[in-house]
Amino acid sequence: MKRIPEPFRIKMVENIHMTTREEREVALAAAGYNPFLLPSRDVYIDLLTDSGTGAMSDHQWAGLMMGDEAYAGSRNYYHLCDQVQKLLGYPFTIPTHQGRGAEQILFPCLIAKKQKEGGGKQPVFISNFHFDTTAAHVELNGARAINVVTPKAFDTKTYYDWKGDFDLDMLQTVIHEHGADNVVAIVTTVTCNSSGGQPISMANMREVYRIARQHNIPVMIDSARFCENAWFIKQREAGYTDKSVKEIVLEMYQYGDMLTMSAKKDPMVNIGGLCCFRTDEDLFNDVRIRCVPMEGFVTYGGLAGRDMEAMAIGLEEGMNEDYLSYRIGQVAYLGERLMEGGIPIQYPTGGHAVFVDAKLFLPHIPADQFPAQALNNALYLEAGIRSVEIGSLLLGRDPDTGKQKESPLELLRLTIPRRVYTNDHMDYIADALIALKSRASTIKGYTFTYEPPVLRHFVARLKPVE
Ligand SMILES: *Cc1c(COP(=O)(O)O)cnc(C)c1O
Repeated sequence: MKRIPEPFRIKMVENIHMTTREEREVALAAAGYNPFLLPSRDVYIDLLTDSGTGAMSDHQWAGLMMGDEAYAGSRNYYHLCDQVQKLLGYPFTIPTHQGRGAEQILFPCLIAKKQKEGGGKQPVFISNFHFDTTAAHVELNGARAINVVTPKAFDTKTYYDWKGDFDLDMLQTVIHEHGADNVVAIVTTVTCNSSGGQPISMANMREVYRIARQHNIPVMIDSARFCENAWFIKQREAGYTDKSVKEIVLEMYQYGDMLTMSAKKDPMVNIGGLCCFRTDEDLFNDVRIRCVPMEGFVTYGGLAGRDMEAMAIGLEEGMNEDYLSYRIGQVAYLGERLMEGGIPIQYPTGGHAVFVDAKLFLPHIPADQFPAQALNNALYLEAGIRSVEIGSLLLGRDPDTGKQKESPLELLRLTIPRRVYTNDHMDYIADALIALKSRASTIKGYTFTYEPPVLRHFVARLKPVE
C-alpha cells in the first residue's frame, strides 16, 4: 500500500487534547449522542467535515496581512476577480461568506427569471445530487430538488470510475415529466459529495450541458471540490492524462453557465464562497443586488478583505498537482487499510472522505435507528474520533407526509481535512475502526429525545435504544 509523503513541512503546530474513555462517555451523553454537539476540545481527531478545516499555507497567511479592508472596491476583491477569470474563465464574480451564501442569493433570482420567462409554475432543480444546504435552499424557495445520480453510486462494493455521473436517461425523463419550463436549473455537483465525494467525468458534464442547452435550462456548477474532480479526470479519463489540472478545470467550467462555490473545501480557506457567471450579465446584476442586503456590499459579500485574499491564493494552490496526488492518495490509503481490515466502504474512495457502509457494518440496526450514527458514536467512544452520519438521520422526513424518507445508503463519512492530519493519523483511524468490527453486534441503535423540524441532524438529541 503506497503512502504518498506530505509535500509540505510543518512550521507551526496545534496541540490536541487526548481524552480517556470515561471522559468521552460523559461528553457524548452530555451532547445528546450527537457528535455535532460535542465541544471540539473533547475530540482527538476531527473528521466531521473538510469544510473550513484545512490548513492554510504560509502564502495564504501572508495574504491575510495584505487585507485591504475598504468597504467598497478592496484590492483583494479585484485580485479575486482576476483569479476567477484566469482559473475558471468566468468574468462576473460575487464573493459570498460561504457556499450557502451564494445559494441564498442566487436561487430566488433564478426562479424569478424562469417565471419572468413564463415558466417555473412548479419549479424544480435537477442535480446529480443536491448537497444538503443546496436542497434546503431549493425547498426554502418553494421548489423541488430532484437527484438523478447514476444508480452505480449506490452499489458501494463495485468499482466504477464515475459514481458522481448523472444518469442521463433519468435526467431526460425527469425533464420531460416536469416539463423543461419548470426546470429552473441543472446543478452539476463536482465532486458529488452526497454519493461519496465521487467524481463526475468530463464526458458526462459535456453531455449534461448539451441536454440543458437543448431545453434552454441553465447549468450551475456546485464547485466545492473542483480541483479534486479535475484530478480524477486526469487520472481516469481517456484524453486527459497529459492535460494539466488547470487545463481540465478551465474545460469543466465551460460546461456551466454559473457557479456557486464553497471555498472552504478545495481552496482551503476557513471561510469564503463565490457566485460567478460566465455570460449572463443581467442575472449577475440581479444577484448582486440581492447580495447587498443578504451578504454584504457587492465587493466583499460578507468577507473581510483579508479573507478574499486568502481565497484568491487558495483557488490556485488547490490545483497544485503534487498536493492533489498526496491528498487523494491519503484518502485512498485510509480506504485501502479499512478494506484490508474487512470494513465495508464506498469503493473506490472519493476525493475528500472515506465512506463506511454502516448498513453492512451494523446489519442488525434498522434505518430508523440510524446505523451510521450508531457507528459514529461507537468510534468516538473507542478512539476520540468524530465523524458524521450521511444517511437516514441527515435525509429527514418527507415534507408532505411527515414520513422518514428512505435513504438508499447509510454511510459514516470519515472526512479528511486538507493538510491537517498525517498519514500516521490515518493508521490510528483505521486501527480504531478495525477494533470495533469484532464488537459490531454489541453496538446499539438510537432514537430521538428531541427532533428539530428541519436540518435535524445538526441539533437533534438522541438516546441509545435498549
Ligand atoms: C459545502 C458545500 C456546500 C455549501 O457550502 P458552505 O460553504 O458549507 O455553505 C454546497 N455544495 C457542496 C457540494 C458542498 O460540499
